[in-house]
Amino acid sequence: MTPPPMGNSAAARDIASVLHPYTDLKAHQETGPLVITRGKGVRVYDDQGKEYIETVAGLWCAALGFDNERLVQAAVRQMRALPFYHGFTGRSHEPMIQLAEMLLERAPAAHGGRMSKVFFANSGSEANDTAIKMIWYANNAWGRPQKKKIIGRVRGYHGITIAAASVTGQAANHKAFDVPLPGFIHTMCPTYYHAGLPGETEEAFSARCAEELEKLILAEGPETIAAMFAEPIQGAGGVVVPPRGYFPAIQKVLRKYDILLVADEVICGFGRTGNYWGSQTYDIEPDILVCAKALSSSYLPISAVMVNERVFEALATKSHEIGTFGHGFTYSGHPVPAAVAIETLKIYDEIDIVGHVREVGAHFQAELRRRFHEHPLVGEVRGIGLIGAVELVEDREARRNFDPARKVGAKLVKIAEAHGLICRAMVLDSIGFSPPLIITKPEIDEMLDRFGRALDELA
Ligand code: PLP
Repeated sequence: MTPPPMGNSAAARDIASVLHPYTDLKAHQETGPLVITRGKGVRVYDDQGKEYIETVAGLWCAALGFDNERLVQAAVRQMRALPFYHGFTGRSHEPMIQLAEMLLERAPAAHGGRMSKVFFANSGSEANDTAIKMIWYANNAWGRPQKKKIIGRVRGYHGITIAAASVTGQAANHKAFDVPLPGFIHTMCPTYYHAGLPGETEEAFSARCAEELEKLILAEGPETIAAMFAEPIQGAGGVVVPPRGYFPAIQKVLRKYDILLVADEVICGFGRTGNYWGSQTYDIEPDILVCAKALSSSYLPISAVMVNERVFEALATKSHEIGTFGHGFTYSGHPVPAAVAIETLKIYDEIDIVGHVREVGAHFQAELRRRFHEHPLVGEVRGIGLIGAVELVEDREARRNFDPARKVGAKLVKIAEAHGLICRAMVLDSIGFSPPLIITKPEIDEMLDRFGRALDELA
């Protein structure tokens, strides 16, 4: 395939050399990249100098915006003091210890009491794969080697390494990659908008979701099911907000059959939903909690897996029997990203990130609904705190989405770009919003003004 003649531009060099994640690779050879060169606050700038508001904070992650000097300095200081060390065979260093302490101090209530220990990885996917391996290891330690199946949810997203992609419940991550692996099963997506029955309350719908889960467990055999993974709000699946009473109902079923619950807080952690954790917003008491992204405001890659006392005890017992816990990345707890994460958490405390999100999030949610709820192309507006979505539909009455082949969401994203917005279209043409957590009310208004103009142009 010959790239369009663009000389020696960054775009031409990109087309000639980069294999992009999450991209239509063939179409990209014609359309080329959007090359971003710098950022300031909630805005980024392309190589032509054009300015955009980043409505998704990159990938739901640059929580402190795109130019936080304190995070830069934290990295520089740590690079000078100790640019690398690791945690294998009991070696340690201060940033890893301090970050683990800070996460445990801030952790939500866990099933059986509190979170006990923290394991570090580099990405959400690695953290979820780690959680799966820990769960299998723990079940071996508990003498029930047959209890290994993992439940995910349709439209759930947990990453792209082979096990994480297997828990994920999205078509693009599955068939063409020969995923999911055997032993990974999926229960229904709790979308009240699409799956709620006429006259059914949210509570009754939640009860039905829990019944469906129990049916699946019984059909598979409870003695074969080890754990369920759930995002407090399904993010990449289109910002699916759980219906009232959903997680308490789900947890009741899981506890009945001694099935562990993993809260995937990769998007929802660190204030996004108006509490420090999505688990606190939705009454989740997980056995294991996974976080990443806003942990370091994504200035450097780092993720964490927190486990409760019961899980830790099992890992400790089995590793003692074998002689080692044979899992860990070269960069687990790398001191430089750990130092950046420590500084990030300190900043969250100083600026009261949760209070800020509650205040501007209430404005964001009210404006999102006021401006777009009645729009002829919008079926549902949903969200909480600083996460939200507008779902585009062909028929509002019938709640019927556009034919995916028409790529209506992708078209809107392109129009929005011209209006100075970087947006993201997800499952069922849901346009997700997850701006940097530092966004102000005037910036929210400016973002929604631009989005409204783009939506009107699409109509
Ligand atoms: N879990 C959730 C909820 C996510 O949203 C993501 C990424 O968006 C991941 C896991 C995977 O994280 P990563 O892309 O860092 O591997």
